[in-house]
Amino acid sequence: MEKFYLKHNVPAAVLKGHPWAFAGEIEPRRRRPDDGEGVELCDSRGHSLGSGIWSNHSQIAWRRYSRAVRPFDDAFVNWALGASLARRDKGSFRRLAWSEADHLPGLVIDQFGDILVVQALTAGADRALHCVCNWLRKNLSPREIVLRNDAPVRTREKLQLYVRTESGNPLPPDWVNIEGVDYHLDFLGGQKNGFYLDQREQHLRVARFAAGKRVLDAFCNQGGFGLQAARAGAASVLGLDSSEECVNAARRNAERNKMASTTHFLRANVFDWFTENRPFREPADGPLEAAPAPARNAPVFDLIILDPPPFARNRDSMDGALRGYKELNLRAMRLLAPGGILATYSCSQRVGIETFLGMLSDAASDAHRDARLIELATQPPDHPTLLTFPESHYLKGAILRME
Ligand code: SAH
Repeated sequence: MEKFYLKHNVPAAVLKGHPWAFAGEIEPRRRRPDDGEGVELCDSRGHSLGSGIWSNHSQIAWRRYSRAVRPFDDAFVNWALGASLARRDKGSFRRLAWSEADHLPGLVIDQFGDILVVQALTAGADRALHCVCNWLRKNLSPREIVLRNDAPVRTREKLQLYVRTESGNPLPPDWVNIEGVDYHLDFLGGQKNGFYLDQREQHLRVARFAAGKRVLDAFCNQGGFGLQAARAGAASVLGLDSSEECVNAARRNAERNKMASTTHFLRANVFDWFTENRPFREPADGPLEAAPAPARNAPVFDLIILDPPPFARNRDSMDGALRGYKELNLRAMRLLAPGGILATYSCSQRVGIETFLGMLSDAASDAHRDARLIELATQPPDHPTLLTFPESHYLKGAILRME
């Protein structure tokens, strides 16, 4: 195996256990390995940091797959897939392999019953696809494997974008029952892999508060939170999403699950919707301290879910992202009846749990309300968090009671 060395005196995160090394941190060498080849990386004194997948195109030149020195070959991939499966609880709706957190940088596999959805996001994962599909067929006997290789990050590694079934046969959208609710999933067409598996547990946790309640499911996608709330006996559910495709899917799901009479899904930008549905009429002019008059017909909810897409995609957008989160949470808090529940999430990798709670505390302060933390949330263990890889801890959430 090729051996590379870190530059002298570079405070590279990989020295502290992070699984990435950047091109600028590594001593250049004349021969460059092929994309997706396994290479060894050593610190500047020659101590091995393990084996990683090489990329000549990405800024992340090296992604560790093992702390040992071993090639990235079929034997390794088979071992890593077996180890990932062994780490998972039994079940048929789960993430089976998640990239660096499962020794397989760039490989993501989701299981939806007898359908497996595979994404290869790095050249190494792409090269391993044949082996991965063989292993999956042998060990899980799926009805179909979907190669969902349309994520734009693939272009950074000069990989083509495509979506197809492994068999080459068509796979029409179909009904799939997840935790007692039927969803119409389109593995070849829909957003992401068709369903947010990482929020599956939270759909149920939040539904515990829903019986008899007026529920707002903001950023509802296909209605995961709202439909579980309806199933748990919510008095009414309003779901908001800016995507027409999602709203149509949520409505179709509601019909199928006989929840159409209590649920209502609306295509709306949540920020605009909150602005148009302020609980107070803000003073047009005059002193700002003037107590705002209560607005007539302002909606009131007992349970609000906020599950927005990631706002902070890079360091520069952090401030704006935090303002966005705070604005959303503040507005939601104002629409909650006394004692109401706010279930609020962030899936921005860059927003840590402390920052997230600080933002919620600021929002509660501005809303002049006490927020009591009922429980913290994070991603489920089938989306493992590697402690030395903070990027793998992306989902943060809090369930609050607003007095
Ligand atoms: N709560 C969902 C997942 C939400 S994903 C679940 O548990 O399954 C985020 C959703 O927000 C996407 O469906 C996207 O279409 C929607 N979205 C993004 N920006 C939005 C906006 N400004 N207003 C409303 N919806 C938005």
